Amino acid sequence: MENLKGSNQKKPNSFPRDVLQLSAAGYDWLNAGKCRGCGAEIQWYLTPNRGADGQRKRIPIRILADKTVVAEFAVCPARKAFQRANRAHAKRADKNPRPVQGSLLPE
Ligand SMILES: [Zn+2]
Repeated sequence: MENLKGSNQKKPNSFPRDVLQLSAAGYDWLNAGKCRGCGAEIQWYLTPNRGADGQRKRIPIRILADKTVVAEFAVCPARKAFQRANRAHAKRADKNPRPVQGSLLPE
């Protein structure tokens, strides 16, 4: 049907496709590790964008056999557990903001 053409347009995939594009996009490699959910080898990167707290976020990247990259949480078989954990963590973080460290010290 012609009506479908408009809604069927391919969205440009903004996520970098390989490690060169990752670094070109401003991602900085941190270290190698293993996914806590599934044990896959992953590479930790810092995202180019800062969160509300002003910190860059760590993102686990999996490098596939064809050298393309994907976010681990997009492909991880344990990603549902992560999403639950992240939501719970975000709730706790909102309710219990960390005290500023300096305030613990006597003036
Ligand atoms: Zn995983």
